[in-house]
Amino acid sequence: MSIFGYREDTTHGPVQLDRYDSSRPHEGKVLAVVQAHADDLPLMSGGLVAKLVDEGYAAYLIQTTNDEKCGPTPSIGDTIRRNEEDVAQLVDVLGIRAAFNLGYRNHRLDEASPLELRCRLIFLFRYLQVDTVITFNPWGDVEENPDHYVTGRAAEAACWMAGAGKDYPEQVQAGIKPHSVADKYYWTMRPGQPYNLVTDIGTHLEQKIASMSANKAQGPAGSQGRRLRARLAAEGRKLSLLGDDDETADREYIRHFGLEEYRRMGQPYGMEYAEYHYYVPRGGYAVHTGLQERLERYIAEHAEPLD
Ligand SMILES: [Zn+2]
Repeated sequence: MSIFGYREDTTHGPVQLDRYDSSRPHEGKVLAVVQAHADDLPLMSGGLVAKLVDEGYAAYLIQTTNDEKCGPTPSIGDTIRRNEEDVAQLVDVLGIRAAFNLGYRNHRLDEASPLELRCRLIFLFRYLQVDTVITFNPWGDVEENPDHYVTGRAAEAACWMAGAGKDYPEQVQAGIKPHSVADKYYWTMRPGQPYNLVTDIGTHLEQKIASMSANKAQGPAGSQGRRLRARLAAEGRKLSLLGDDDETADREYIRHFGLEEYRRMGQPYGMEYAEYHYYVPRGGYAVHTGLQERLERYIAEHAEPLD
């Protein structure tokens, strides 16, 4: 188990502090990150995913859209290709085993058949025997991007249906075993969305930075450093912190100027850098509120032998 320490109680439940456990507590388990766009995972979970992989998870990435509008490149075809290359790089730097690109049209995921999307996720969750999912909060407030909430809702339903053999029984007949997802981490993507898990990403900061730097196609995000380096060179100047090559410049720019939000999130919890998630444990919200423990305690105290 990770080292969880209760720190405060909120209307979303107790906030747990999460730190790296080098004993590989998740050995043998499978993680699927379900994102809509190439930048979702790096910004929300780059540190957590690197930590979970080092804690033993076999991780996979499932991307729902083709990112065709994500980035300043005028050509739509070129934008898709460049984002695909970024995702391949993201998979590399985080130690993820494979990416599955579902290829739905960017900003138009709400035109896709909800049942087809859910079925494709159920197939992958069963095929990979996924234990844990990281994705959007399906019910998060202030979410304006349909790709986000459509992905989150399809993934949430697929998590439990993947374990129900009567859903898509032909998959089961074909030898794909039903398998329920046990626990979930939802992203805290917009201000006001809940979180109950604060992860110390200080131990995995290099991978966090590398994951953010992998995101080159979507405008300045992962390539700010090289742009600044080029601008200064044109002016006959340089900043030594940007190093001598483009990739170093991108990563050092992120290290010095791109991590403010993660520093701010860590501060109240005594961490240098943190990511926030809403963690839903096995069994869902009832267990999270302690109902199961209270029930078991009541049974232990009050159950009587049958006559
Ligand atoms: Zn997104």
